[in-house]
Amino acid sequence: MSFADLGLSPELVRAVAEKGYAAPTPIQAKAIPAVLSGRDVLAGAQTGTGKTAAFVLPILHKLGRPGSQRAPRALVLTPTRELAAQIADNARTYGKYVRLRTVVAFGGVGIHPQINALRDGCDLLVACPGRLLDLAEQGAADLREIRHFVLDEADRMLDMGFIHAIKRVFKLLPPVRQNLMFSATYSDDIRELAGRFLREPVTVEVAMRNATADRVEQQVFRVPKEHKRYLLAHLINEGNWHQVLVFTRTKHGANRLTQQLEAAGIPAGAIHGNKSQGARVRALADFKACKIVALVATEVAARGLDIKELPYVVNYELPNVPEDYVHRIGRTARAGSTGRAVSLVSPDESSLLRDIERLLRRSLPVAPLPQFAVSAPVAANTPARTQAPHRSTSSDVREPRPVHASRPGAVRPVQHNGRHAPGHGKREGQQQSRHPHERRGAQERHGSHGKPGAFASRGKRRAGAETSPRFRSGKIA
Ligand code: AMP
Repeated sequence: MSFADLGLSPELVRAVAEKGYAAPTPIQAKAIPAVLSGRDVLAGAQTGTGKTAAFVLPILHKLGRPGSQRAPRALVLTPTRELAAQIADNARTYGKYVRLRTVVAFGGVGIHPQINALRDGCDLLVACPGRLLDLAEQGAADLREIRHFVLDEADRMLDMGFIHAIKRVFKLLPPVRQNLMFSATYSDDIRELAGRFLREPVTVEVAMRNATADRVEQQVFRVPKEHKRYLLAHLINEGNWHQVLVFTRTKHGANRLTQQLEAAGIPAGAIHGNKSQGARVRALADFKACKIVALVATEVAARGLDIKELPYVVNYELPNVPEDYVHRIGRTARAGSTGRAVSLVSPDESSLLRDIERLLRRSLPVAPLPQFAVSAPVAANTPARTQAPHRSTSSDVREPRPVHASRPGAVRPVQHNGRHAPGHGKREGQQQSRHPHERRGAQERHGSHGKPGAFASRGKRRAGAETSPRFRSGKIA
C-alpha cells in the first residue's frame, strides 16, 4: 500500500516521499482513511509508530488550500513544548506543497511572536493547553473556526493534570467538528474522556493495550543505587554508545547525573521543566547532532521527543507510574529500527519493576552485571582518586556497603552484594563507621566526583583502573 492509495493529495504524497517515507506505517494505514472519511477517531498508538503523520496528513488534506479566514481551522492539543514543536515541524514539512500555515504555541517563550503569527493567519494551530488558553484570553487565538480537533497523547495530558485546561478548551470550540484522540495507553479516565467528546468514533489500534514496542530489546540490571552511575558510564564506554537517552525521576537527579557524566568526560546535557526553553532546544539539538552522548531527561520533558533511530534508552530510575515505562522505551526502535532499553534497578525499586512487569504481562530479562569500576569514597582529608572493580551478579539486590579505600590510590575489589573481599586492610573499618552520605559529601566537597575510574573520561579511563593487568584479565586479583 502507498500513501497515494490512501487517498491523499499528490502534493502531500510528494512531500512524504521526499521525507523518505516509502509506505504508510500500520497506524497511518488505518487512521488516515478513517480521518479522511470525516468520522471521529479514537487511536491507540504510542509515539514511534508514525502517529503524527496519521493525523496531520489527513487533516492537511481536508484543509485543502490556505483559508480565507485568519483563524485556525484545525487544532492539535499536545502536552509538551517539544512535542508541539515537533508536530508543527512535521506539519510544515508534509504541507510544504500546499502552503498551509502552521503556527505553534507553547509556554516558556515570549507570547508576542505567537500573537503576531496568529494575526498573520493560521490554518493549523499546534498548542499546549496553558499557552493556548492565555492566547484565547488575550483575544489572540480565535477557536471558533476549528473544524478538526486532535487531542494528542491524551493519557499524558491527564497525567500532567491538564484535564481542567482541556475542558476549558472544549468550551471555546464550535459544537460541530471532527475529533481525534490519540493515546498510548487506556485507563478508565481516558475512556471517560473519550466518551465525553468523541461521537461514535472509529477505533484504530496498532499495538496491544499497553504493549511495548516488540522491537525494543529490554534488559534489567540489578544494581545498588550508589553504583548506578558507574555502571552507566561503563555501559556507555564499553558499548561505545554514541547516543543514549537517560531517564531520571527528578529534575535535580537529572542535573546531578549530567554533571557526573560530564565530570567523567562523557558529554551530556539535561532536559527538564526547570530549564529554559532555549536550553532545552539546545540540548535536544546537540543530542540529535551527536554533539553530546547522553541526554538526561525527566519523564515530562522527554515526552514525545522524536529522535531518529535512537539506539539506547536507559531507565536510570524506574518510573513511579508503570505506563511511563512504555512511553520511555517508545523513544527507541522507532519506525522500523531496533533499539535497546536498559533499566538500572536498585533494591528499593523492586516493587516498581513488579508493577511494570504486571502491566506488560511478562517478566523482563535480568542481565548479569558486568565487571565495572566504582570510585571509592574516602575520608574528608584524603584526595579521592581511588576506584575498585565491582563484581556483582544479577542477584545483587541488597544495598551494599559502600566501597572504601584504605589508602589513596588503593583498588578495592568488591564481592557479590557489594561486600568487600575478605582480608583487605582493617584500616577501612574506621571509614566504614562513617555514614556513607558523609563520605560522599566529603568527596564532593573535594570536587573529585570519583575521578578517575570507570566514571572517568573515555581517555582517562583507558589509563585508569580497568587497564591494570588484573582488570584487563577480567578477574579480580
Ligand atoms: P511519530 O510516532 O509520529 O513520533 O513518528 C516516529 C518517527 O517515524 C518520526 O521520525 C517520523 O518521521 C517517522 N515516520 C513516520 N511515518 C513514517 C513512514 N511512513 N515511514 C518511515 N518513517 C516514518
